[in-house]
Amino acid sequence: MNIHEYQAKELLAKFGIGIPTGYPATTVEEAVEAAGKLPGPLYVVKAQIHAGGRGKGKFKELGADAKGGVRLAKSVDDVRADAADMLGNTLVTIQTGDEGKQVNRLYVTDGVDIAQEYYLSMVIDRETSRVAMIVSTEGGMDIEDVAHNTPEKIATITIDPATGFMPHHGRAVGNALKLEGALAKAASKLAKQLYTAFTALDCEMLEINPLVETEAGELLVLDTKMSFDGNALYRHPDVAAMRDESEEDPAEVEASKHDLAYIKLDGSIGCMVNGAGLAMATMDIIKLNGAFPANFLDVGGGATTEKVTAAFKIILSDPAVEGILVNIFGGIMRCDTIAEGIVAAAKEVDLDVPLVVRLEGTNVQQGKDILANSGLPIIPADDLGDAAKKIVAQVKKAA
Ligand code: GDP
Ligand code: MG
Repeated sequence: MNIHEYQAKELLAKFGIGIPTGYPATTVEEAVEAAGKLPGPLYVVKAQIHAGGRGKGKFKELGADAKGGVRLAKSVDDVRADAADMLGNTLVTIQTGDEGKQVNRLYVTDGVDIAQEYYLSMVIDRETSRVAMIVSTEGGMDIEDVAHNTPEKIATITIDPATGFMPHHGRAVGNALKLEGALAKAASKLAKQLYTAFTALDCEMLEINPLVETEAGELLVLDTKMSFDGNALYRHPDVAAMRDESEEDPAEVEASKHDLAYIKLDGSIGCMVNGAGLAMATMDIIKLNGAFPANFLDVGGGATTEKVTAAFKIILSDPAVEGILVNIFGGIMRCDTIAEGIVAAAKEVDLDVPLVVRLEGTNVQQGKDILANSGLPIIPADDLGDAAKKIVAQVKKAA
């Protein structure tokens, strides 16, 4: 799960980490009010969307010369003008895709005088089973180019969970950032605080870009992105409450309400499968037969009629879907129960694309009979290969 910059900074501040003062705003008046609480004379007005690259982004509705989604403002009147410019408009960045994201919220912060921009991020490195801290002296808006053209300017420090964060890790961060004296100490302290926050909050990723050295000689987190391990969210109700569903794919939000594991993909064949492994195999075999899956969908072990109906509706809400393949293994669930669910759901949603169903497992014959006697144009399949061939053929025939 992702959260907004202003939320991530609120969380980091609780760990004693330095951030510029700022306030979120959803209207121009709130943005002006926020600026009124800041000392000035420099303010920053920042679009809050779940995507990076805002500074270099462009608003669809504004001219090509218009400023991006992170703007320095030199007066409260400028804050007002920038807020009016951004709110409700669509920001396109390298991370949003061409469709962009509508800006519904701003973050108005105290403007910082920057002496130097650094980069620091943390991820879980599966290869070493450790948290990796990735640091570079070349922070700022061009970090992707740095990683591509001069990877030697990026250092990786891994932290063994058995020891936790040790003083030498802190010194390594300071060295990698080429800092000395008080700033090296500050970097070391900050790295430790970040590690504590990362592990305490069950983060998946934490990126600070830029981490800045101010003209006053302080280290501040100027921009941050945080994402969390969804399986650990139950331990953090305060973090879970930060979820902004308007930033997520509506079909994925709907799926999570029904406890369905759904991820939208780019193909034309909707898949409804039980079990993640079978779902992966189903996607593979569709590809092997020359078509592409429109989604990953695992209805789970205890699929009820309601769940199957919800899954059908979600699959069909994607206009790219030209056919559906249901591939269910009745283990704990019995095939006749599943077949009844499929028939009820297909009737309820007025299915208008070909549907191939492959059932296997307990009570498979009763299940197949229910499908055959349903009066619906359901195409039965005997095994995974047969099912994939049939649905791909149906979709190609219709095209
Ligand atoms: P991003 O483009 O989405 O990564 O947004 P950032 O928050 O990183 O802002 C983009 C750039 O704006 C930063 O790399 C800074 O160079 C600049 N910027 C952001 N906040 C300030 C600030 O308080 N003072 C100054 N001088 N520049 C800022
Ligand atoms: Mg940034």
